[in-house]
Amino acid sequence: MEEKVIDENKQGEALVLEAKEGNARKLYIESYGCQMNFSDSEIVASILAEQGFNTTQQMEEADLVLVNTCSIRDKAEQTVRKRLEKYNAVKKINPKMKVGVLGCMAERLKSKFLEEEKIVDMVVGPDAYKDLPNLLKEVEEGRDAVNVILSKDETYGDISPVRLGGNGVTAFVSITRGCDNMCTFCVVPFTRGRERSRDPKSIIEEVNDLAAKGYKEITLLGQNVDSYLWYGGGLKKDFKNATEMQKATATNFAQLLELVAQAQPKMRIRFSTSNPQDMTEDVLHSMAKYDNICNYIHLPVQSGSTRILKEMNRQHTREEYFELIDTVKRIIPDCGISQDMITGFPTETEEDHQDTLSLMEYVKYDFGFMFMYSERPGTMAARKLEDNIPEEVKKRRLTEIVDLQQKHSAYRTQEFVGKTVEVLIEKESRKSDAQWSGRTQQNTVAVFPKEHYKVGDFVMVKIEDCTSATLIGKAVGYSKVNN
Ligand code: SF4
Repeated sequence: MEEKVIDENKQGEALVLEAKEGNARKLYIESYGCQMNFSDSEIVASILAEQGFNTTQQMEEADLVLVNTCSIRDKAEQTVRKRLEKYNAVKKINPKMKVGVLGCMAERLKSKFLEEEKIVDMVVGPDAYKDLPNLLKEVEEGRDAVNVILSKDETYGDISPVRLGGNGVTAFVSITRGCDNMCTFCVVPFTRGRERSRDPKSIIEEVNDLAAKGYKEITLLGQNVDSYLWYGGGLKKDFKNATEMQKATATNFAQLLELVAQAQPKMRIRFSTSNPQDMTEDVLHSMAKYDNICNYIHLPVQSGSTRILKEMNRQHTREEYFELIDTVKRIIPDCGISQDMITGFPTETEEDHQDTLSLMEYVKYDFGFMFMYSERPGTMAARKLEDNIPEEVKKRRLTEIVDLQQKHSAYRTQEFVGKTVEVLIEKESRKSDAQWSGRTQQNTVAVFPKEHYKVGDFVMVKIEDCTSATLIGKAVGYSKVNN
């Protein structure tokens, strides 16, 4: 029987943890990187709950310490190495604890991790979490354990995640794993393998389970949600040929969005991450058709230069990206859009950089995630292109796009002033315990006085002021969704 435990994270924010009665062993798990990794850690916690583990926030009392790692940039890997030094110190006061590394860095380094980091007992890749019980047995019998085999069909669709430290209001639901796009700078295809989609039935089951537990918003997760495609099978005799059968029984991303929206009409639905080369108009029409599918898209572009996009093996041009943005704005005029951008990609000229700035000027994104190019071992770019942009040039270009984004974020938040928008309350504002914090449909943060409202309420908020990142307002009543 599962129970909810309210704990607190280091920031003093309330955390909702699920625990299994009778489980005596303690698991401490840390996650780094993308939302996919945080969602995977909930799968891992569920698999280990069947082995008698409940999660703890205190590493000092843990029997097993796991770190779910990211390999997207060198800095992410350095962060993990620093954490392992910390584990070393804790192991001195908690000698029984076993240490395992999960995720993309584990997949990239494989058994080399054991040689490089003596504290590590176990190395497990993103597709091998169901083997954890066996690997744990090996470790308990004093052997090191490694499983980094990538799978063509593992989606963990049959595992009900154990929610770890969320706010009890929003949750991630993974719909695809892996990626078939070979962007030349990216390690994901090597650390997470080929793309595969999860059975829509198991996705709907998980969404219904979350609704029953009181969650109010879900984010459908995938490295590239637009390439979601599930073949439902069916009887060969009913179709002229396999292609016809596939067409008739397939569920694509637009259809999945509608299935989820219909299954839980009062639940907010978000999704991430989209890919401009795969996004189709029917996804936008599905968004426009259902009030509970949020008007927000995270649409990474990485560069504004068609020449650099080609070097990155991104299958679209600058012009095609503009067309897509125009189509988004035509079908969903108030859609919030955010970006990912890389500066200083090999061979990037000042002119290419200016193309990135002018693309940002055209879109005026709500917010973005911007980084300097970090060469990743094993990627096409690392093999074919010299990392030839000087660090100080990368830094200057990064500063320019961050400053421009700041200006555009302020322009977008200013557009809300004077309007009344629906906000889902997620937690107490970091700045004041007299205020609630939540997000609009466009994924913009809003804060307002608490009054009689509570976490999980959908509230209509009149926006009176803003900063470049936050809307400031006053609640004027419940949203109709709340009824
Ligand atoms: S779409 Fe490109 S950047 Fe995104 S995960 Fe796939 S390979 Fe990496």
